[in-house]
Amino acid sequence: GADPVATAVEPPNRLLGGLLSPDFDDSSCLSRYRSGLYRRQSLHVVSSHLVASLRRYESIHRRCGPGTSAYERAVARLRSPSNTSDAAAAAPSECRYLVWTPLEGLGNRMLTLTSAFLYALLTDRVLLFHHPGDDLKDLFCEPFPGSTWTLPEGDHLPFSGMQGFNARTRESLGNVLRRGEGGARDHPPPPWMYVHLRHDYTRNANDPRFFCDDGQDALRRVGWVVLLSDNYFLPGLFLLPRFERELSRMFPRGDAAFHHLGRYLLHPSNTVWGMVTRYHSSYLSCAEERVGIQVRSFYWARISTDELYNQIMSCAHGENILPRLQQEPSNATAGELPQPATRRKSVLVVSLHGEYSERIKDLYYQHGAAGGEAVSVFQPTHLDRQRSGEQLHNQKALAEMMLLSFSDVVITSAASTFGYVGHGLAGLRPWVLMSPVDKKVPDPPCRLAATIEPCFHIPPHYDCKTRAKGDTGKMVRHVRPCEDFENGVQLV
Ligand code: GDP
Repeated sequence: GADPVATAVEPPNRLLGGLLSPDFDDSSCLSRYRSGLYRRQSLHVVSSHLVASLRRYESIHRRCGPGTSAYERAVARLRSPSNTSDAAAAAPSECRYLVWTPLEGLGNRMLTLTSAFLYALLTDRVLLFHHPGDDLKDLFCEPFPGSTWTLPEGDHLPFSGMQGFNARTRESLGNVLRRGEGGARDHPPPPWMYVHLRHDYTRNANDPRFFCDDGQDALRRVGWVVLLSDNYFLPGLFLLPRFERELSRMFPRGDAAFHHLGRYLLHPSNTVWGMVTRYHSSYLSCAEERVGIQVRSFYWARISTDELYNQIMSCAHGENILPRLQQEPSNATAGELPQPATRRKSVLVVSLHGEYSERIKDLYYQHGAAGGEAVSVFQPTHLDRQRSGEQLHNQKALAEMMLLSFSDVVITSAASTFGYVGHGLAGLRPWVLMSPVDKKVPDPPCRLAATIEPCFHIPPHYDCKTRAKGDTGKMVRHVRPCEDFENGVQLV
């Protein structure tokens, strides 16, 4: 129950089984080597091949990242491809880049960023983070030692307006393929290309070909690939035969890709980590068991507050996650001393709304818990509305995802990427509150998820051979339909 950092002299498993590089200065990012101490020990082994791939990636990033002469040459080539001789332009670039920019809420952002990172690992590209706004400032630490992942501002690169790109953008992979331009081996490739993986990408006949061999061929020699997505597209990379061997060596079990890559990449800044640790030691650290409950409601899955509260409690009681109520009022006689609690359970509720934690708290205030457990209920914020364009709002959201990831058991809302990040980092299979049926609690109210992996909500559902509709959930062994989102797929 004590503060894990205060008691651990030499933190065990500080590098998470070799996942993390030892080359960082601890104080620049306190969460990096400490988050692991607050979580349950991961049951998911990190493969030595993944460790080797990460170290190799770090050396490429160091050599090619912003501030290096290789980076300057790549920018010059991008700015004036015509100054480069044909032979030089056709030669493989010494460094190639993948530029990511945020879209939608923080959960979506963290999942697409992790997907982009795996794509960068598989294709030897350097992942760069392009964000002209302030809302992601002081949120994450630098993940790669001795370098930066921030695309320098002020360079005015040809894709600096990429946040407004869409399926009609001329340089998109889909449009390049449609014009029949992607395949010519003797021509120099274009200096940059755009990969459109926003939620509407399947409406265009050619954008889903990112997940096919010909799409990957068209991108292979392009120096700069810029990507826009609000989708956890990582499972789609498992559809490509060319990545199959590498992926099976990195992830022999297939079902912990986000768990490992997210713990490698996504370290909250010292500001956010301060919120996390203060909250943890004030409210959560003294309990024997921590239960996390994440409540999210979507406009497309309407349910009243009463119904959703009933759903949460019937899940929590039905699955023995929270103690049932004492039947008999305690018949303590005047002379009897109060009994100490047999066990302390802390319940962390994260939600935009305050009603659920208030009701749960009130329930255990008015009634005792069977078995004499003490149940304490906490909710750090209830911000009411999503405001993903604001820095402090995002910092609080990230702090809550981290706190959720310290749970021993989690209940999450179906289809929420916020929830996926929490239990994904924890490495726990969550109890998922299934979407309502006709605005009512579904039966059963919750299900233990089949995997710790997030769901890829909008997979291509495209057959590369016939260039027609296909069922992504039936194509390869590790990719199966999700239980919490229709038409989605996930790694199992
Ligand atoms: P999703 O919409 O559930 O898939 O998750 P996202 O993270 O992509 O978008 C929801 C956004 O709403 C979050 O990033 C937060 O800004 C906000 N939000 C939703 N639920 C919570 C919550 O429980 N706590 C906090 N602090 N913010 C939340």
